[in-house]
Amino acid sequence: MSFLKVPPWRAVRSFRGRIVPILEILPKPANQIFRPYRSFPATYAQCSLSPSIPYSSSPPAVPDASCRWRPMCLYYTQGKCTKMDDPTHLERFNHDCSRDLSVNAADVERMRPQNFDFFLVFDLEGKVEILEFPVLIIDAKTMAVVDFFHRFVRPSAMTEQRINEYIGNKYGKFGVDRVWHDTALPFNEVIQQFEAWLIHHHLWEPRHGGHLNRAAFVTCGNWDVKTQIPRQCQVSKINLPSYFMEWINLKDVYQNFYNPRKEARGMRTMMEQLKIPMLGSHHLGFDDTKNITKVLLRMLADGAVISITARSLSLPSPLLMYTVIILYNLLH
Ligand SMILES: [Zn+2]
Repeated sequence: MSFLKVPPWRAVRSFRGRIVPILEILPKPANQIFRPYRSFPATYAQCSLSPSIPYSSSPPAVPDASCRWRPMCLYYTQGKCTKMDDPTHLERFNHDCSRDLSVNAADVERMRPQNFDFFLVFDLEGKVEILEFPVLIIDAKTMAVVDFFHRFVRPSAMTEQRINEYIGNKYGKFGVDRVWHDTALPFNEVIQQFEAWLIHHHLWEPRHGGHLNRAAFVTCGNWDVKTQIPRQCQVSKINLPSYFMEWINLKDVYQNFYNPRKEARGMRTMMEQLKIPMLGSHHLGFDDTKNITKVLLRMLADGAVISITARSLSLPSPLLMYTVIILYNLLH
């Protein structure tokens, strides 16, 4: 599969998998106020496994002092927290994802109608093989957090020694290497669980294949879906899932919507330009996903219409190519 980067305002037809940017914009930035949102339905939580290990993330400046910031319990995000009845643990770790993603009624009123009912904000970690697979569902009408899916992923083509080094370097500094080793699953199992979760939310139907139902992935850049998912599927010897054929690169939408003098090269720059405090640890996938979600929520509140920016098209079948050639010769 190949891709071609093209100017984002131009829709492009192509045969070999190319990026097809289609952006809708409405330049109307505005100031935002954040306050706590409704409670989060923990639909996928089930308890087992070992106790949580603390991780050290830098707390951001939270506007509401009564809503003290605390790191997410990463056993809980994977349905494996065993300390939900321990007050000390609950005081120390956040078990309600929506706490950090609050919006107000005025934000929702300013929203424009969207082309999708749900956004699936998605930010992989792991440059060699995928190490973390976090996804947040945002309701495109209410800006509410609907649910999240979070799994640590165990590389399939590395030795144990290499995995230990890799995880120590990557997650040791956040203090989450223990929870990674306790919970990480092979990529093919993560994909099976993810698909069960999509089906549970009526966002995808395996019999029909194809795209997500009324939903779209939102990523920061094209790398996650364009490069790393297909690469990991090859390493893990599984077919590329059909729902990974199109996505929204939030950086492209951001650039066209706000048209900043300085190009926003990543999540950190977008947050700086929008004056949104960064949550948790940069490059911890679950925290980055929440931060990308904060940018998305701000853009929705500012009136952006968030549409597909990139699409990869499968190679046409030889029969289709043959038919096209015959039709071309007949018409010319
Ligand atoms: Zn917990």
